[in-house]
Amino acid sequence: MDRLALLRWILSAFALAAGLALAVPAAATTGTPLSVCVRPALPAQTPAALFAQPRGFDCTTTQSRFGGGDFWILSQRLPAIAADDRDATVRIGSTWVDRVTLYVLYADGSIRHTGFTSRTAGRLLGLGAVINQPIPHHAAAPVRLLWHIEGAANLRGLILGPALADPAQRNTTEILLAALYGGFGGMAVALIVYNLALWGALRQAFQPAYCLLVLCLLAYALTSSGALGQLLPMLDNNDRQRFNALFLAASAAAALIFARTFFERAVFNGVLRPASTIVMVALATTGLAWAILAPWQFHLLDRLLACAYLALLVLVPTILIQAWRVRSNFLWLFALAWGVPIAVATLRVANAFNLFAWSLWLDNSTILSMALESMLSSMAIAYRIRLLSVERDTARAQENAARELADTEPLTGLLNRRAFLSRAIGRRGDQMLLIADIDHFKRVNDLIGHDGGDEVLRVVARALYNSVPPGALVARIGGEEFAILFEATNAVAPGAVLERVRSQRMPFDIVVTASIGSCTGPLLNETDWKHLYHCADRALFAAKAAGRDCAREAPPARIAA
Ligand code: GH3
Ligand code: MG
Ligand code: MG
Repeated sequence: MDRLALLRWILSAFALAAGLALAVPAAATTGTPLSVCVRPALPAQTPAALFAQPRGFDCTTTQSRFGGGDFWILSQRLPAIAADDRDATVRIGSTWVDRVTLYVLYADGSIRHTGFTSRTAGRLLGLGAVINQPIPHHAAAPVRLLWHIEGAANLRGLILGPALADPAQRNTTEILLAALYGGFGGMAVALIVYNLALWGALRQAFQPAYCLLVLCLLAYALTSSGALGQLLPMLDNNDRQRFNALFLAASAAAALIFARTFFERAVFNGVLRPASTIVMVALATTGLAWAILAPWQFHLLDRLLACAYLALLVLVPTILIQAWRVRSNFLWLFALAWGVPIAVATLRVANAFNLFAWSLWLDNSTILSMALESMLSSMAIAYRIRLLSVERDTARAQENAARELADTEPLTGLLNRRAFLSRAIGRRGDQMLLIADIDHFKRVNDLIGHDGGDEVLRVVARALYNSVPPGALVARIGGEEFAILFEATNAVAPGAVLERVRSQRMPFDIVVTASIGSCTGPLLNETDWKHLYHCADRALFAAKAAGRDCAREAPPARIAA
């Protein structure tokens, strides 16, 4: 992937993420938000009396400050709902609660109620873990709502983000959130499949770690989307939240495992290795304790879990600084991919410490930010794979260069004897072998010096190389002795080779000639080679005896089988 393609990828990832990011705020703003006031519930209080004389309600204190228990929550006067809109619903974020009863006061003074318990909440659960309670049908218009909440844990609030929605608004919310979760789910499955496939080929430790992370996030998405409530309506909504908390903590721990396997070893040398192990164990144990023990010591467990997340948030910049100090190749990609999830996690931790208000957006922000992270991480992984392939190509090129060096004879660049034999022996069909030997080379050396002789060797080598067909082997097998091998059916006339040598311009314009002995025969094994070589060598001797600067062909070494 070149830089331009990478940039294009980053831009499309951001465009897609921005598209998804718009889905949640758009979903969150469909419907009419309602303001509410709270009062702790006392025995013998009735909805009729509270509607008639709404005393003791607190409209300013943050809900989570009231602690757990039973409460009454009174809405503002409802905005006029069109008379024909008989299907309005009240939307609230799902929380840990035993029972919620919604009392509705109508314009004619009558009161009706509807409700759910944690066991029956599943069928009301919409995407994004919101509860959609239909307002009971009645002849007169609804004017005010009063919730009776029993057994609330009140970790983040009692009634989260209450809003009135008509069927069209409810559909819009569901469709936008379905797009978000569907998009994330599809991407997550694709990420798992392609990372596992790549792992099979590349065996990089971060790949199974990344699959584990995405798997935890998928489980988290399933439990937080409300889809699980739809699939298993009998599942207690509080139990669903146990799974939800557990999978979120598991995702955070898996993200740390991923970071440890993704960066170079040097990043986690020293104190970061035990520190990250401690945070991982803290996330796993507090998440598990929350999931198993809640609502026992609920606020303590919730704080402990929030502290584990806080420790993770402190650890992350430490990892990034360390990665920067050891000049990690992956720092900028990691920082880019995890910037948004880390920012969102910070907001969620702030929300857990009641420093930041709950919203449907915040509740679904983890999925959103992880969708962005997944896309960028895919690119980070692609980048790592690119580095690996560059490494592999360099290693391959070096290996080729080393092999070339081992196979060639340094003075002329032709094959050396060993490489020639390893390529020659085993060739099928009859082969023609020429042994060319420079005539009176000792004299050449005497005449123009050893260096000049070397240059003559180079010129002759080039002439021989250029005089044979492609696929022929040309080697320097002795001081001024060369071997040329080609298929007998594709033979070159030895005279033509000699002519080529003769016509070369030599150092100091001296005349250099050579003699050639040739022989044809099979070359399937070492014995064949010995026969063929001795046969050609005899022919060379004959050529030398005949006065040099000529070629002699010996009768075939053996008849090919
Ligand atoms: P003939 O025509 O019978 O082949 O005579 P010749 O002189 O070529 O034969 P001989 O084999 O007796 O001598 C070969 C000479 O080649 C001897 C050696 O000094 C020279 N020689 C061998 N290797 C090299 C080399 O790498 N560079 C140079 N310059 N000379 C070499
Ligand atoms: Mg010679
Ligand atoms: Mg010789």
